[in-house]
Amino acid sequence: MLCSEQNCFVCLHCGHVQYAVDVVQGRKKDEVRGRCLQCKTWIPLQLPSIRKKLVYLDQSFLSDIYCAANDKGIEKRLLRKLQELKRVQRIFLVVSDIHSIETSAIPDKYAEKRTKLWQFQNTLANGNIAGNFYDIFTAQTRRMLAEHDDTDPFPFTDIGLHDPHRWQVGINVVPTNSWRLRLHRAYTPPRDEINEKFLNIIDRQVENIPDCRGVRDCLNHVLGLWRKDIQQGIDAYQQQSDLQLLMKQYVEALETGHTPVIQVPQLPDDAPFRRIVGDVIEGLDETTALQRWLRLMKKNQICPSLRIRAAIEAELLWIRWQGHRSNPKKFNENFGLSRQNDVDHVSAFVPYVDALTTDGDMHNLCKHEVVAEELARFPAKIFSKKNYDEFEVWLDTLLAAK
Ligand SMILES: [Zn+2]
Repeated sequence: MLCSEQNCFVCLHCGHVQYAVDVVQGRKKDEVRGRCLQCKTWIPLQLPSIRKKLVYLDQSFLSDIYCAANDKGIEKRLLRKLQELKRVQRIFLVVSDIHSIETSAIPDKYAEKRTKLWQFQNTLANGNIAGNFYDIFTAQTRRMLAEHDDTDPFPFTDIGLHDPHRWQVGINVVPTNSWRLRLHRAYTPPRDEINEKFLNIIDRQVENIPDCRGVRDCLNHVLGLWRKDIQQGIDAYQQQSDLQLLMKQYVEALETGHTPVIQVPQLPDDAPFRRIVGDVIEGLDETTALQRWLRLMKKNQICPSLRIRAAIEAELLWIRWQGHRSNPKKFNENFGLSRQNDVDHVSAFVPYVDALTTDGDMHNLCKHEVVAEELARFPAKIFSKKNYDEFEVWLDTLLAAK
């Protein structure tokens, strides 16, 4: 069956025309087949090669449009246009694990809202939930270490999507992914406890740069801390590998009837990055990859998403250093968990998407000096309540495109 421009397929057997959503899709080997409703024949589907726009909607936008079931003007129109663009397969809506982290944090007294909001988000993305910041950090760093000559520096496989550009045919079973909420609820400490940690971290950073002259000093400081974290992760990983090797040799010696004398080294202090280091180099030649990673870090080369993240953290540190936004009641929004989720959204997904929404305050932060420099390397458009009108114009242009 051939696809026409109107989102329909024409049966090559009997000429019957049917909408993509009505095609029953079958798979035989690698071939995609569709069943004609009229002559009941299975015919290979010739799927058009398309490039959808990837649109990342942050939690504030999704909550807004979700609540916009009540009449709120522009949000409601935006939702309608997004859904229409999705129907005609010009956009793919990206919902990530960061959304599931945020949604899972909605308190139990709003359990019903939490479930419904998640269902809404999950359906927007057809159940294809993209990864979180550390998944993307892992994928980007891994590619830097593998030294592949990639044609696409930011493939969508990095963000954990199977194939967002594939033409969707027929009724697809959408997984609910509700396990994500349960998992995050089970393993995430209470918000106040996390914010307490963030407060300690940022205030310690402020104390550690007593003669700060501006945001560039903050950036150097933040980058130094990230390098230290990664370095400690690599050290811990190597120590653990050495230990495993030693134990293996010990067991082998025992099996041959010897009782070897070994000195068991002191167990290393664990580092938060150790497991991530393991994920990054999995499947690569360990020694070569770690050496290359250390060399890259000496030259201050880190992956793009971490660069964006460090830039935002530097601006936040500079704000805190100057004593701005010191209201403890607003710590969560300004520096705490809520802000960290915004930082996750922007730093992880800007390199991959065509458009991304964020809240107004985060949008302002994106225009600050060092953040703007990093974001300028990517074509993604950023929208917030401040310019939802421009978002609508962008959507209208996509709708009007032939
Ligand atoms: Zn037919």
